[in-house]
Amino acid sequence: MTIEFEAPKPIVNQQVMLKTVAENMMRPISREFDENEHEIPWSYVEFMHMAMKAAGGGGGLTVMEEKTSPPAPLLEGEGSQKRPPIGYQKLATQIEMLAWGDVGMYLITPGGGLGAAAVAAAGTPEQKEKFLTRFNSDIPTYAAMCMTEPGAGSDTSAIRTRAVLDDKTNEWVINGEKIFVTGGDKSFTHYEKLGKGFIVVWASIDPSAGRAGMRAFVVESGTAGVKINKLEKKMGIRVSDTAAISLVDVRVPFENMLGSATVEKNNTGFRGAMATFDATRPLVAASGLGVARAALEFLKEKLEENGVKIRYGLPRQKLSNVEREVIDMEIMLKSAWLMTLKAVWMADNKKSNALESSMSKVKAGDVTTKITQKAVEILGPIGYTREFLLEKWMRDAKITDIYEGTGQINRLVVARQILGYSGSELR
Ligand SMILES: Cc1cc2nc3c(=O)[nH]c(=O)nc-3n(C[C@H](O)[C@H](O)[C@H](O)COP(=O)(O)OP(=O)(O)OC[C@H]3O[C@@H](n4cnc5c(N)ncnc54)[C@H](O)[C@@H]3O)c2cc1C
Repeated sequence: MTIEFEAPKPIVNQQVMLKTVAENMMRPISREFDENEHEIPWSYVEFMHMAMKAAGGGGGLTVMEEKTSPPAPLLEGEGSQKRPPIGYQKLATQIEMLAWGDVGMYLITPGGGLGAAAVAAAGTPEQKEKFLTRFNSDIPTYAAMCMTEPGAGSDTSAIRTRAVLDDKTNEWVINGEKIFVTGGDKSFTHYEKLGKGFIVVWASIDPSAGRAGMRAFVVESGTAGVKINKLEKKMGIRVSDTAAISLVDVRVPFENMLGSATVEKNNTGFRGAMATFDATRPLVAASGLGVARAALEFLKEKLEENGVKIRYGLPRQKLSNVEREVIDMEIMLKSAWLMTLKAVWMADNKKSNALESSMSKVKAGDVTTKITQKAVEILGPIGYTREFLLEKWMRDAKITDIYEGTGQINRLVVARQILGYSGSELR
């Protein structure tokens, strides 16, 4: 199998539509919703739900199995050979473009988010059918994933949330505390304009088994015992809600536990969590790179307005320092995007991508942070003033390096994969 560098036609066509959305629907309200944290831009949410549905992507952005994301049609000259699936590539490309518009707003694009990704990675075919099809609903619907706890962030195996089976009712009873849940409010709280979403809660069914005892539970919106305690006030991505959630005697049906209830020595539960991240880390990378591209394009535009046009093709020593910096930023951006494309291509082709997935996230985290900061630095006051969005992009960028595994943690994953160490051998 070869990697194609040219985007398939369905992706190219969709990009045209998404660029229009990013330019005309996201950018004009970007500042307003940054300054009014937690308000919901309903016009964007409702439009995107309808538009993505009409484009055949289900209702919004959701990581799904190939059957809901059909292979791209053949292009002219491809003969009778079948095109490989492009579900993740399409998603990454969509996300990059939406994040170019506004990364916080991309995060509130209707769809299953990390919650659906967990169902796709750890659920049975019946669970996928039951929980993933709801994003095709007539109104925008969300899902979120709750892993992080006050005492468990990078070390996910330290989670203390417990799920105990009540033999009499055949229900799981969940107790615990979850924090920093992206989209937790929209996925759980009843909003008239939203469909019935869910949160996926990671808990232990057997603390003595460590990672092998970890399981994910689908907790439907409105379930008794779940409380949204607060929405975080943040540095960036402020239009995206980040919830702290408590669970007290929360009862869910037996079949809402994703995968198998048997605790085996082979870490089944933890593997489900890791499989979720393998799928979604390149998508986080793509979102960061959209922000970086926005900053880089803005930088070049402002430099040109000030008479600085990059003279591509000249020997390096003949370029000005600013020209060299811009070219280096373009190299960083392109290489990070290529790494991201490789990781999603592997996911689409059902190849194990733990290494490439974490690599793409590390690289994108670095590149996005560096490019946005450098752009502010080079433009000085233009970069610092709230008159333009560049200072916001610099604030929005940092999260790329934090959620779904920090830069340090993903570097550890990369090192373990390359050196052949287990999690306990290299930590
Ligand atoms: C805006 C936002 C949205 C989020 N969304 C979600 C979500 O939807 N669902 C969810 O479950 N979580 C979410 N998170 C949580 C996020 O995944 C965690 O913040 C992240 O995993 C880091 O965990 P921590 O905050 O506990 O930091 P810690 O684990 O305490 O780490 C603190 C620092 O130490 C470093 N460090 C830790 N261990 C090591 C090590 N072994 N080697 C080297 N360095 C190390 C880390 O890299 C970091 O720099 C979100 C966080 C934010 C800020």
